[in-house]
Amino acid sequence: MGAGFWEQGDVVLWRETWRGETWGIFPVRVVEDGEAATAVYIAPGTWFDFPAWPWDEVHPWSGRAWTGHGTLVLHRPGDAFTIWHFWEEPERRFAHWYVNLQEPWLRGAHAFDTCDHELDVVVRPDGSWRWKDEDRMDDWVRRGRFTSEELAAIRREGERVVAEWPFPTGWEDWQPDPSWPVPALPEDEEAA
Ligand code: MG
Repeated sequence: MGAGFWEQGDVVLWRETWRGETWGIFPVRVVEDGEAATAVYIAPGTWFDFPAWPWDEVHPWSGRAWTGHGTLVLHRPGDAFTIWHFWEEPERRFAHWYVNLQEPWLRGAHAFDTCDHELDVVVRPDGSWRWKDEDRMDDWVRRGRFTSEELAAIRREGERVVAEWPFPTGWEDWQPDPSWPVPALPEDEEAA
């Protein structure tokens, strides 16, 4: 691996932005990083911080930690989506993929910025898929989070990913290193 890539086990910050403002931050652990793709792990017990969530409802992840099996998130440079891998409890049986539509990661030294596009695609191992949160998108346009042109582009990207069908990813049997502690938010989030 060349310079500039993170090491396996590093903790980096996932920063959610909207129109240039950081509204959400959480720590993830680097599983693999390279030119082709980056894989990070959201561990159970991870807390999320919402310093500037701009909308009048409470963010659904506010005030609670991640529960259940952690999720492995895969991102290829430049892609306007990540693929989240979910496993069922109590056995660690692969459950489904979750295409999180979002802006491509903008990497910093110890963090990356992105902007969640709210609309997601849930893909099951049997080959079926469905939108998630599609019923909320018109309301987000009405409230100004996205323009109708942006929503059309977000939807097109979801359809494009389904047509590309990047499943299985090869990470379906992955297991986290049990020695990894739950990553914590740093004292000074600005330093990342
Ligand atoms: Mg989403």
